[in-house]
Order: sequence, then structure tokens, then C-alpha cells
Amino acid sequence: MKSIDHDGDRVIAELCPLCGQPCGEPFVRNECSWVRCGCGLIYKTTEPAAAGARSGYGEAYFETYRRRRRHRIAKARTQILDALEHGPAGPLLDVGCSLGYALEAARSLGLDACGVDLSEHAVAACRALGLSARVGSLEALPFADRSFSIVVMKHVLEHTPAPRRALAEVSRVLRPHGVVFMAVPNADYFKAVRSPQTSRFFRGEGGSAHYVYYTVATLGRLLEEEQLRVAAVHPCLVHRHAGGLRWARDVATLRARKVARAIAQQAGLRKEFWMVAVRGR
Ligand SMILES: [Zn+2]
Repeated sequence: MKSIDHDGDRVIAELCPLCGQPCGEPFVRNECSWVRCGCGLIYKTTEPAAAGARSGYGEAYFETYRRRRRHRIAKARTQILDALEHGPAGPLLDVGCSLGYALEAARSLGLDACGVDLSEHAVAACRALGLSARVGSLEALPFADRSFSIVVMKHVLEHTPAPRRALAEVSRVLRPHGVVFMAVPNADYFKAVRSPQTSRFFRGEGGSAHYVYYTVATLGRLLEEEQLRVAAVHPCLVHRHAGGLRWARDVATLRARKVARAIAQQAGLRKEFWMVAVRGR
């Protein structure tokens, strides 16, 4: 569904991608419209007709991803080991492989690994490092059924307006009892909840490249409905890489009562969360 509405915007969704209810009133309105459904899912309903977000993954997009490569590889290694606690070791697919951090981590763990990315630039960068990667979209993965034991999707599912189709593809390429590791931005993150209109989730690159924001509850429901059983959830602290100072500054900008509430709702302190799910037979 990609019609143009009376404002000249491209219509992304008319129904909630999770529960199927019709879209309600906008929750955030800037160059795009975002709705928060009664089921808890936050999703984009319109974007400028000229947006073309999905073709915007050239060299410039990956500029920030070049930094802290060793840290990114180490983090991916921890995440793959985490996934391996819930399923058998075997061939790994990294969907949205970017510059190959998870592929390099998988290689260091002795796993046969292949990446797929929309970006020809990213795929070429992986290949230059001797890593296996292909150009392809997550809604039509260029692999045979039951090819992989592990699928990694780090900050990928928020980039598609059709998450069910993407998860059906993940299920298709996974072997029975295979695992999928996901990381997504946390829709419960306190800054996005407190002031969505100015949050980076909804403006700039986040606003243009992302289509859906998940909470632990909404992503869990989506996975379960697509026959992927949730095995683990791993929140990690906001800005943990920047150390306690920046985290403390973020929290200090809230009033004491709000801090207490934020701590009570621990999930709100996390900018992203990870989830591991297992495919059935
Ligand atoms: Zn809904």
C-alpha cells in the first residue's frame, strides 16, 4: 500500500501492523505522521512522497558506524554467545550486516557466517574484509529454506513497515529450533516517552529511516504470533558505552519524582533492548 494522500504524502499504513486496527490520530506529526496504537505499537503512517528512505543507505549513512569497530565486534560476540545459549551452533545469517561487525564476531567464534544488506556499499565493505555478504532485502531474503541455525537482526526490524513479512522470511530461512537474535530501539525509552515531538526517535535519521518502534511487550507479541518463541530479553543501560557521567546527566535532567518513576519502570532507562527467540518445528 503506497498511495499518496491529499497532503501529497506517501501512505505507509492504514492498519496497525501488529493488531490490524485502523490507524488513530497522529501521536507525532512532523514531516512524517506516527501513530501510537491501543495495542502499544508505535508506527509511521505517512512520509513525504520524496523521502525515498530505503535508497538512502549509501556511504554517508555508514559514517558513524565506522567508529569503535573493536567495541562493536566485541558486543556482537557477546550477543551471538547469548543466542547460542538457546539453540544449536551452526551457520549464521546477519540481516542488515552493515560493515560486518557481527560477521567478524561469528568468524572469531568459528561459525560459518553470511551477511545480507540493502546497501551495495555495506556489502562491498564486508567483502573487502574477506567476509561473505550479499545484497538483498529482509522482506525477500536471497537464501533457501532452512539454511541457518542463527539469524542476527541488530537494529533492522524498525526499518521495515512490513515486520510480519520480514519475520516470516526469518522463520523460513531458519532451521527448526534455530534462534533469532534481535536488537531494536526501545519505545519505552524515557526521552521518547517524555517528549516524542523532539525525540531523535522521530526526527532526523531515526524519523526518516525507521517505520516501527517496539516495546518488549509489542515485539514479544509479534514474534510469538509469527511462531518465534521468546526465550530471553536483555535490556542494557542507556548510553552505557559513554560511562556513568552521561547517563547521570540524562537522568539529572528529570525532576526527582520523575526519576523515581523512571527507575520504577526500569525499561524506560534503556534506549534499546535485545530479544532472543526460537523457531519451532
Ligand atoms: Zn495495534
